Amino acid sequence: MRTVIRRLGRMLAACALVAATALAGVVVTGGAAHADGCYTWGRTLSQGMSGNDVKQLQIRVSGYPGYGAVLALDGVYGPATRSAVIRFQQAYGLSADGVAGPQTFNKIYALQDNDCTPANFSYAEMNKCNSSWSGGAVSASTAKFNALVSMWKLQAMRRALGNVPLYVSSGFRSYSCNSAVGGASNSRHLYGDGVDLVGSPSFCRIAQQARYHGFSNILGPGYPGHSDHTHLGATSSRSWSASSCGI
Ligand code: ZN
Repeated sequence: MRTVIRRLGRMLAACALVAATALAGVVVTGGAAHADGCYTWGRTLSQGMSGNDVKQLQIRVSGYPGYGAVLALDGVYGPATRSAVIRFQQAYGLSADGVAGPQTFNKIYALQDNDCTPANFSYAEMNKCNSSWSGGAVSASTAKFNALVSMWKLQAMRRALGNVPLYVSSGFRSYSCNSAVGGASNSRHLYGDGVDLVGSPSFCRIAQQARYHGFSNILGPGYPGHSDHTHLGATSSRSWSASSCGI
């Protein structure tokens, strides 16, 4: 009997050891050791720091600039970046300290695909014109980058609207694609950041909500030619018109 108890004790000790090892494994995975298919941050970022890793962070939180604002993607972690990180953290129920550490990065890793697009949007959805992203008003790489930033803004807006599906009916356009659909000669679609949204919720709801997520070029119901979609884009100056929605 005593032998059995001793054996049981050893088994329990062994189990405890396995449990401890498993726990340690979880802790390591949750820290800086995480490798991501798109981009992996190597340090915790906070206000006052700068570098490409800050710019990579700014792209992912560009949908959280606050009402009517656009976050600069300048690689400098200033007060606006800190506020955007806080809004991102709040949106996902993380501790909102404005410091981008393992918790924040792991949420981003969980959200992004290996090609760096956010979970619910894709390059294919953003470009039904041509596969090369060429022929627009900017270089192909700039157009594709601008589309990526718009997708992160859309991901933020989608979250704020209660994870409703948002469908991009038109994204990047070359000049020939743009004239084929009668687009404006200076359309943001030529730059890659312009998106036409359809689907739920209402076009007005999308136009109103977009003001919180870094879109400065918003055209919706009431603006000529925009009764069947809401257009969002990024311009240096604000241009909102959706008179049927009160904006
Ligand atoms: Zn449009």
